[in-house]
Amino acid sequence: MRLSQFHLHTSKEVPAEAEIISHKLMLKAGMIRKLASGLYTWTPLGLRVLRKVERVVREEMDAAGAIEMLMPSVQPRELWEETGRWEKFGGQLLKVQDRKDAWYCYGPTHEEVITDFARNELASYKQLPVTFYQIQTKFRDEIRPRFGVMRAREFLMKDAYSFHLDDADLDRQYRVMYDAYGRIFTRLGLRFRAVFADTGAIGGSASHEFHVLADSGEDAIAFSDSSDYAANTELAEALAPAGRAAATQAMHKVETPYQRTCEAVAELLQIPLDRTVKSIAVIGEQGFVLALVRGDHTINEIKLAKLPGLGNYRMATEAEILETLGSEPGFLGPVGPRNDIQVIADRSVAAMADFVVGANEKGFHLVGVNWGRDLPEPALVADIRNVVAGDPSPDGAGTLDITRGIEVGHIFQLGRNYAEAMGCTVQDANGKAATPTMGCYGIGVSRIVAAAIEQNHDDNGITWPEAMAPWQAVVCVINPKKDPAVAEAADALYRQLNAAGIETALDDRGLRPGSMFADIELIGIPHRIVVSERGLAAGTFEYRQRRAGESENLDQVTLSARLG
Ligand code: ATP
Ligand code: MG
Ligand code: MG
Ligand code: MG
Repeated sequence: MRLSQFHLHTSKEVPAEAEIISHKLMLKAGMIRKLASGLYTWTPLGLRVLRKVERVVREEMDAAGAIEMLMPSVQPRELWEETGRWEKFGGQLLKVQDRKDAWYCYGPTHEEVITDFARNELASYKQLPVTFYQIQTKFRDEIRPRFGVMRAREFLMKDAYSFHLDDADLDRQYRVMYDAYGRIFTRLGLRFRAVFADTGAIGGSASHEFHVLADSGEDAIAFSDSSDYAANTELAEALAPAGRAAATQAMHKVETPYQRTCEAVAELLQIPLDRTVKSIAVIGEQGFVLALVRGDHTINEIKLAKLPGLGNYRMATEAEILETLGSEPGFLGPVGPRNDIQVIADRSVAAMADFVVGANEKGFHLVGVNWGRDLPEPALVADIRNVVAGDPSPDGAGTLDITRGIEVGHIFQLGRNYAEAMGCTVQDANGKAATPTMGCYGIGVSRIVAAAIEQNHDDNGITWPEAMAPWQAVVCVINPKKDPAVAEAADALYRQLNAAGIETALDDRGLRPGSMFADIELIGIPHRIVVSERGLAAGTFEYRQRRAGESENLDQVTLSARLG
């Protein structure tokens, strides 16, 4: 690619709306442009990177035996009614009507569509096992889209779904996908960790999330300092060792994924679930308290006036809150050092008939909230206890540390729920109808681009891992107009490198060296080669690796060896 014929549009300004480094750099480098809240255009530069991620994901899915297909993003309501998710999915589901007034949703995920496909396509056990995947645009009406493509509303996901006759075979394929995910993130050059994740009550089988480690990550993960044990701190399993506190005995985990519960509460309270919210708590009939803590800002910016007309529920009085919570100081005041999940115990909660819902500030609590009506219906699945750094690891090896991660992948043993709800069966070896068991496997393709920048940047811009860079190398020409020999030599080198399989750009825009180098560093091309009159005279090219402090003058043979 000759950059004079490309659309490169960098900017020196630090965009005001961007809070985290990846968002800032993606805007400065001109990789994305915002169309509306949570909707982004991928510029030609951004798209090159996105396609790199997609390619690695596709290659590893193919290698793992998954078969690519493409499903519609618009999905009919009827399918979602079959699984009950038309209602249950909540506010993230974007519902639209066509001219005949029929309802559709823009797919946030594709379990319904793939199960519908399977019930029509799969007739015999001989067609199993099978794993289908697609790389496709999803839409989720996130309560607060933020951080650019990190939490967008429209985003690119790889989603895969597998079908098996028995649980052992699902287990086998789950392992295969787990390993494929490891290869994907390794090839992309990311520091990541696979962690046990919440399975909810959908069958009680395995689930893992893959997290790119970064301080800006929204998730807290707990890992052992002396074994491979790692878990999302949302997860009961990670949640600390038996006997931690007698007071937590009465507490339970809800089936509703933690994040979704918090989002539902935030929606109910009409407060943005963002860094200004330190915690959100839901107190249930069963004596369950859940709180979310984000960032280290205060909640003061949230004004009481933002609360909606309260309908069936009303503001809780301070006396009611205190009566419910006893003297638990973590609830109304600052939540203290445990800045991830907060589980607050109280004896009196179990006696509650109605629910209190609130955030960690006076004036943000409601009573009379009902599960099912106002919030997703919970189901008790396990005891939940708090986990903090220094707790013994649940596997008995060492103690737990807490770190932050960005969820870039999630694999899940779904079991038979979807197939059962949708009447998907195949004939088994005895000619009997058997319901297949399913796995699902997601990767946030577009989120990976942002996550990678969180891990790979310096003061001058992005420092892409090789596999994700828009180009491997760039040949920069100094003063091409002044000296045609320099332009010719650069052109020749550019063509040779591409012919040798090194994806190379030619910076023939005729910029001054300072501006040209600043752009190249900002967009993060790993190898920069400068062709100048002086170098030509000496028979050398000036070579610099993006992460290296110094450049070197190399002759062509040495240069080729270095790049090869
Ligand atoms: P999160 O916890 O970040 O909301 P999720 O658990 O809701 O993600 P999954 O349903 O597991 O997401 O979807 C699979 C993958 O899709 C996630 O691991 C993540 O990488 C990506 N993803 C989910 N929501 C978004 C989003 N709003 N923007 C970009 N990528 C997303
Ligand atoms: Mg989500
Ligand atoms: Mg999640
Ligand atoms: Mg997930």
